[in-house]
Amino acid sequence: MSTLTSVSGFPRIGQNRELKKIIEGYWKGANDLAAVKATAAELRAKHWKLQQNAGIDLIPSNDFSYFDQLLDTAILLNVIPKRYERLAFENQEDTLFSMARGYQGDKGDVTALPMKKWFTTNYHYIVPELESSEGIKLNSTKPFDEFNEAKALGVLTKPVLIGPYTFLKLARGANAQKLEYDKGLVNAVAAVYAEVLGKFNELGAQWLQLDEPYLVLDKEPGDVELFKSLYTKILAAKAGVKVLLNTYFGHIADIYETVNLLGFDGIGLDLNEGREENLEAVSKYGVASETTIFAGVINGRNIWRNNYATSLGLVDAIKQVTANVAVSTASSLLHVPFSTEGETGIPAEDLKHFAFAVEKLDELKEVAVLADATEDEKKASAALAANQALFDGTRVAADPAVAERVAGLTADDFVRQPAREERQKLQREALGLPLLPTTTIGSFPQSKEVRAERAKLRKGEITKEAYDEFIKAQIDACIKHQEEIGLDVLVHGEFERNDMVEYFGQNLNGFLFTKNAWVQSYGTRCVKPPIVWGDVSRAKPITVEWSAYAQSRTEHVMKGMLTGPVTILNWSWPREDITHEEQTKQLALAIRDEVLDLEAAGIKVIQIDEAALREKLPLRKSDWHVKYLDWAVPAFRLVHSAVKPTTQIHTHMCYSEFNDIIRDIDAMDADVISFEASRGDLVVLDAIHDAHFETEAGPGVYDIHSPRIPSEQEIEDRIYEILKKMNVEKVWINPDCGLKTRGNAETWPSLEHLVAAAKAVRAKLEK
Ligand code: GLN
Ligand code: ZN
Repeated sequence: MSTLTSVSGFPRIGQNRELKKIIEGYWKGANDLAAVKATAAELRAKHWKLQQNAGIDLIPSNDFSYFDQLLDTAILLNVIPKRYERLAFENQEDTLFSMARGYQGDKGDVTALPMKKWFTTNYHYIVPELESSEGIKLNSTKPFDEFNEAKALGVLTKPVLIGPYTFLKLARGANAQKLEYDKGLVNAVAAVYAEVLGKFNELGAQWLQLDEPYLVLDKEPGDVELFKSLYTKILAAKAGVKVLLNTYFGHIADIYETVNLLGFDGIGLDLNEGREENLEAVSKYGVASETTIFAGVINGRNIWRNNYATSLGLVDAIKQVTANVAVSTASSLLHVPFSTEGETGIPAEDLKHFAFAVEKLDELKEVAVLADATEDEKKASAALAANQALFDGTRVAADPAVAERVAGLTADDFVRQPAREERQKLQREALGLPLLPTTTIGSFPQSKEVRAERAKLRKGEITKEAYDEFIKAQIDACIKHQEEIGLDVLVHGEFERNDMVEYFGQNLNGFLFTKNAWVQSYGTRCVKPPIVWGDVSRAKPITVEWSAYAQSRTEHVMKGMLTGPVTILNWSWPREDITHEEQTKQLALAIRDEVLDLEAAGIKVIQIDEAALREKLPLRKSDWHVKYLDWAVPAFRLVHSAVKPTTQIHTHMCYSEFNDIIRDIDAMDADVISFEASRGDLVVLDAIHDAHFETEAGPGVYDIHSPRIPSEQEIEDRIYEILKKMNVEKVWINPDCGLKTRGNAETWPSLEHLVAAAKAVRAKLEK
């Protein structure tokens, strides 16, 4: 029998982001739900056919989603908090969107569920909130409908669901409580999955894939028991359907023995990120006779071509233990762009090094064919030879100047003087800010007009001078508006930027850019990461002119706005031929040049965004420092260590989950940090309190990911919550992230409420 091929999941947003456009159209009232459904069905059909034509055996269904697959799972299990049900929408889709985005209208006013990053990716999931285990029941036909839909098109799919263990580990109780995994809850959840299996058995499914990425995390007491009790019940119901337990983003060595004994028909292992540990576990504990190992060899997290020789070696290593091996994507392909087709801006010589989702299908198939080939057939294989050629010889010419600069760094380059406490005093005097200073995170709404103007510049329809004038007018208006509503530290608004990473990449040596390589980030939002192609250095000053212009237009302090090295790397496609540490150092030196130029141009406050620093924290605790923080934190310090004591360095993080690394965040030695804190709970404030956090901080006082406008009272209440845990001298008042994706209609009233709330609290404190 030939080696089976399996895809864990496929991007759903569409080659040209069709799903994004139609859903956003629906939200704006430009099209109806029927149109959304029609587009969704077209996309599913196209994606299934593509996979079928590529010769993939196990093609996923139910990997589609209108917003997020974990939210779909919550709805499937009827884990819908009452406040959303009470809105009483006719369509389940509207309930779904209200959970994801919040709702403000004639039916009521509710905030959205929290959103968090999906393991170490830049994809965000919606955190399910389980009020009680009583209502848990099978509540949606989505997985079955999509299976039937594919079947009618002649594609017998492998339905995919997020498994019960991962679901329960990621869900929270009401008021952000940790869940108790009592018997009632475990039985109720297991019963729904058992029912799902039964239905798929009736419908004629051959395989069901249950994704359990949470298994790659360290286990807490009780976790293994929880997993076992869920799956003992579920597997008892499987009848004719084969169950594939799929894991990714790391290894499951600490639970492999248990998993192997449970009698799954398939175990999916990531041989990319968890390679050594997973291979070791397989050879140590063996593979049950009824089980097939799904060898995850095609990287779902990066876009470089697969090295076939390496993949074949991995398949061989598993074959030493069992003959039952299938080849698979290492994770869902959700996290890579659709296709390299149409990327005409990249020379063919370079483009051939990349494989996006569609190209990865061919890679998967080719690896499977080669895995079955004899030695002679391999020698004669043109596919193998062509692949090998990509890895022979050097792809990029190194830049010796960059290497020299990195090599010349000393310990002092990573330390800013004097100590922060002293700096904070000097800065307070120099900047003359009030108590509870107000500011924003950097960007203001990017209207259609701004994007249209940029497009015109790109197409050569307007001159650079005309474009610059246009941007200056935007900056002027934005400054005026900020002054009017009374913000303390102003920003220029970032109108010149398409994206906080791509914009910098465009002004650095060593990057490549795509036209259409979008990846889903949250809901309908997509990002288009640039590609690190060679050694990185700054080509020319990047933001200095804009910031200096903005500062010249106001008496207020103008905050310069940069993206930090760790974030640039984490939100780019990194090289695979040198380490992340090395690439980050190169980036840090480039941004350091920019920081010093901004300072020289009279900018007194400089924000260096490290929005993505927390995102790539390794999933296993033992890896946190050695594999990441030990170089990521110093890289940030390298960026700002040479500024004057009075220059205030801010940073921003799109995350509040840094309780465990609070000391490392402090060790970045910024003067001020702002972060997301409004969509979830404020437990991070306890950590700030307990750790005697030295950095001044602005825990976001409202959620910018939702279109709703917070009231002044709401923000005031939030500020008092913050003041319970933080020294008032260290508190900043700001939204929780940049405002770029919002409209002016909600942004300005929200900020007015923010300023009013800060002033009201200030007045009461001063009494
Ligand atoms: N300065 C950026 C902005 O305001 C930060 C964005 C982010 O944190 N993702 O857009
Ligand atoms: Zn942010």
